[in-house]
Amino acid sequence: MNIPYGKQNITQADIDAVVSTLQSDFLTQGPKVLEFEQKFANYIGSKYAVAVANGTAALHLCTLALNVSNKSNVITTPITFAASGNCIRYCGGNVFFADINPETFLIDIKKLEALIISKPEGFFDGIIPVDFAGNAVNLELIRSVANKYNLWIIEDSCHSPGGYFIDSRGNKQFCGNGSFADLAIFSFHPVKHIACGEGGMITTNDKDLYERLLLLRTHGITKNPNQLVENHGGWYMEMHELGYNYRMPDMLCALGISQLTRAEAGLKKRKEIAKRYNDAFVDNKDVILPKFDDGHAFHLYIIQVENRLELYNYLKDNNIFTQVHYVPLHTMPYYQKLGHKKGDFPSAEKYYSKCLSLPMYPTLTSEEQIFVINCINLFLTNKNQ
Ligand SMILES: *Cc1c(COP(=O)(O)O)cnc(C)c1O
Repeated sequence: MNIPYGKQNITQADIDAVVSTLQSDFLTQGPKVLEFEQKFANYIGSKYAVAVANGTAALHLCTLALNVSNKSNVITTPITFAASGNCIRYCGGNVFFADINPETFLIDIKKLEALIISKPEGFFDGIIPVDFAGNAVNLELIRSVANKYNLWIIEDSCHSPGGYFIDSRGNKQFCGNGSFADLAIFSFHPVKHIACGEGGMITTNDKDLYERLLLLRTHGITKNPNQLVENHGGWYMEMHELGYNYRMPDMLCALGISQLTRAEAGLKKRKEIAKRYNDAFVDNKDVILPKFDDGHAFHLYIIQVENRLELYNYLKDNNIFTQVHYVPLHTMPYYQKLGHKKGDFPSAEKYYSKCLSLPMYPTLTSEEQIFVINCINLFLTNKNQ
């Protein structure tokens, strides 16, 4: 019996939803796309949603819609998946990093502002904060910095559908709801909360950006009579700019709709699992625990330990497959070639030296979790003898 760090959950209802779409007239751009977009926007609390091929395509479309170019300078966090930085590179822009806050593992707002003011006025174009592990970035604070320096915000919410922070008025602000960020993105990769195999979503409250994204998602081609320069008849279409094929197929949107009905139940299970880990390790001085709060979506449950490699290997020998999120992006050979170097972001690098993502997914049974906890405790006890 293997216990991975993350795992999708596919029910008979999911299978039936996909099969019925396979038997319908549409494999790709049918009615399920708009239905998924509307239901997802409703769940997240945004005005608009655009379904796309995957989370990386979502990020790329966002940077295109915000006109990132080889003159653009954009800031993200070093503790994230590569795509959060790569989407800037796809448009030729320069990637800058601001170090993480060692308590939250999220981009540090003070370091962010220090970086911005270290460059001439107007140097930076935007910020890509990440709701890392499911912990919501305080976008109200990021927005106030962004407004001061005239920057846009793309929120990478891949880890946090259903997560939220409490704003200065005491309101819950759900990740991706568009209240503070210009655009937000999600992924439906199997390890994420909503699993479609491949798939992604962009959410926004901005109508112009929404319409631009629809155009860019499908080759920059429009059939909308209001947008056409000429009109030669019912078959006529025009290509207005260089877009891509970043569409999400109907059958995967049908799966997404079915998965979405269980999103809240899944989130509740994740919080229960996190609580059980916290309770199990709270008195253990060898384990640094993540902060537990209700707005945390717990995509990942990350502990920090001194003997991380040994613990990782020990758990693997017991068929428990933990993971490390992430090797800091600025230390990747590709980013080092662009001029970033080890030592640039000490908090991120220190965090990386100790972090370990424990099994966390809604179908993890309590027996499995107890086995994981016992293995970790046994390892740590033996270490101390
Ligand atoms: C998964 C993920 C992505 C990319 O999503 P894909 O659907 O795999 O392309 C981007 N950013 C973060 C933080 C992610 O976890």
